[in-house]
Amino acid sequence: MLAYLRANVGRAVSGEELRYVAREKTSDWARRLRELRTEEGWPLYGKQTGRPDLSINEYVLEADRQTQPHDRKIPDDVRQQVLERDGYKCTACGWSRDRWTKLDPRFFEVHHRTPHAQKGSNTADNLVTLCNVCHDAAHAQRKPRLD
Ligand SMILES: [Zn+2]
Ligand SMILES: [Zn+2]
Repeated sequence: MLAYLRANVGRAVSGEELRYVAREKTSDWARRLRELRTEEGWPLYGKQTGRPDLSINEYVLEADRQTQPHDRKIPDDVRQQVLERDGYKCTACGWSRDRWTKLDPRFFEVHHRTPHAQKGSNTADNLVTLCNVCHDAAHAQRKPRLD
């Protein structure tokens, strides 16, 4: 299932496709989907988890990379709350999903104002929405890399 998602980065895939490639019972592939996101840190989102533009039962692997282990501890509902509060826009450059192109396939990440390593919390008031380009830039400025 992960191999299939990684071959389809950026494309919405349906639950039926995933169930087919997983060859598992519904309850098992749905759990596997959640594990890939929350335990392994794959940016794999659906309608209820940050991609309201998708249909119910559609999922997108937004990038072929895993988030840092500490970022995996941000609960789904908190991430959703941060994206909503920030209007689904990058708080640094204003990028929004309607500007997505194949040549510039950005996606949103949630960034800690106070780094997790400095006891910054995983709550909405310590988190901001950034596009992946601004997120990388924000971390390049923090030396040593703490978060
Ligand atoms: Zn940005
Ligand atoms: Zn960050």
